[in-house]
Amino acid sequence: MAGVVIIGGGYGGLACAVRLGKLGHDVTLVEASGTLGGALDSVSRDGYTWEAGPQSLLVPAVVRDLFRKSGRPLGSELGLEGDDGLVPLDVIREHRFVDTSVLRLPSGSRRGQIEAFDELGAGLGASWDAYVSDFDEVWDLLRRHYFEEPWQRDSLPTDVARLLGSRDVLHKHLRRVFRDDRLATVAGHTFVADGHDLRNVPVWAGVVSYLEQLFGAWTLPGGLHRLRDLLVARLETRGVRVLLDTPVSDVVVRNGKAVAVRTAHGQEIDADAVVCAVDARRLPALAPYVARTMPAMPPVVTHLGLNGDVPDLGHEVVVHGDPLIIIRPGGQAPEGRTAWTLIGRGKLAEDMLLVLARAGIDVRQRVETRVDRSPVDLVSAWGSSPYGVRWQGRGTVKQRLGPTTPVAGVYAAGANATPGAGLAYVGLGAALVATEIGPA
Ligand SMILES: Cc1cc2nc3c(=O)[nH]c(=O)nc-3n(C[C@H](O)[C@H](O)[C@H](O)COP(=O)(O)OP(=O)(O)OC[C@H]3O[C@@H](n4cnc5c(N)ncnc54)[C@H](O)[C@@H]3O)c2cc1C
Repeated sequence: MAGVVIIGGGYGGLACAVRLGKLGHDVTLVEASGTLGGALDSVSRDGYTWEAGPQSLLVPAVVRDLFRKSGRPLGSELGLEGDDGLVPLDVIREHRFVDTSVLRLPSGSRRGQIEAFDELGAGLGASWDAYVSDFDEVWDLLRRHYFEEPWQRDSLPTDVARLLGSRDVLHKHLRRVFRDDRLATVAGHTFVADGHDLRNVPVWAGVVSYLEQLFGAWTLPGGLHRLRDLLVARLETRGVRVLLDTPVSDVVVRNGKAVAVRTAHGQEIDADAVVCAVDARRLPALAPYVARTMPAMPPVVTHLGLNGDVPDLGHEVVVHGDPLIIIRPGGQAPEGRTAWTLIGRGKLAEDMLLVLARAGIDVRQRVETRVDRSPVDLVSAWGSSPYGVRWQGRGTVKQRLGPTTPVAGVYAAGANATPGAGLAYVGLGAALVATEIGPA
């Protein structure tokens, strides 16, 4: 038996590797760069450490399930008794609107969200609640037939096919259901932040607001990149062979079935099954099947090391406008200092610090260290976009790969195989691939 070869050691590839290792497969994880984790990583300089990518996650059951099903529970790995180490956020993010009004969106609380919107304007709580509650059935349907059950493009249950095939897009829907633009801004925010155009995002994808309200957002003290360290340790427990600095250039297909992957060094690694946890457009054997997809491009990211007094901002602050700037103040810093990450989208014609100063958050005199990473830097660091495939309407669901692909023996995982970026969806996708491949 040649075993399973996984292409890409980001969160998607790591999650597949530990799950398949536990199922008894002989697993080889092939990673182009010198480190594992992809965007699930940290950036360090001058005593500061920032999250390179994820800072919080939704649907914590997904990561709990990953650790349980691949070995020991998360809490045991962290040396905790009766606790899994994940910490729920009180407030998912603070939205600062162009008109200077502010909404602090509570995490995991329907009542809290209604009250927060009512504070923004009388009656807005009911309006928000009606929007979010509409996704109750959507989640129930998709969870059973799409997120938690390997799905086949051409044999979806009728109600799922109807939902996924709907032409309704979020942009129009939000204009229709909200008379206050700020609610539409909040509902569309995660998509705009992830590099999508709301005119091309199907309405059902808005289920993310429901997930934020129902399950909340969660962090891990010390940073989510610790999950990467735990998964890397688990690779060893599960006997996964890891090849670093080994870019895969293609999948070798013979008689219609994948038999190996070819590396950029010209080596062929035999495989009974291949998991593509990278952008399939980069692999010639798979590229024709994803020719109509485009990546959702990463944002501009600036990590800041700040000294002295800076505003105390909570977990995440979104400064709306064009450009859109997200402040994530949760990095680790030396005593008396603060580590922020800025994420920018839109018209970034000037420095994000200047835009923030104009919005009343002026830390220009406080900067002692900064690391700027452009979208190009990020794509070249990770070989593709960790935000996966850009929404281009309802067709995108069938135009991207995963969990199966048209090539026998090839499966797809990672952000490119799921309906949007985020560890929750990527984690669910890895579970689907493990279910499809099954025990050795
Ligand atoms: C700035 C930023 C903030 C984010 N914030 C959040 C957040 O708060 N919450 C959340 O849930 N999600 C967040 N995300 C999204 C999250 O990081 C991604 O959904 C997730 O990490 C994607 O994992 P992945 O394995 O699909 O891809 P990646 O992390 O991109 O990993 C792909 C891996 O494959 C390797 N690779 C690429 N090509 C090849 C090849 N040809 N051969 C071998 N290896 C290859 C790369 O080197 C990389 O290691 C954020 C992302 C970014 C960039």
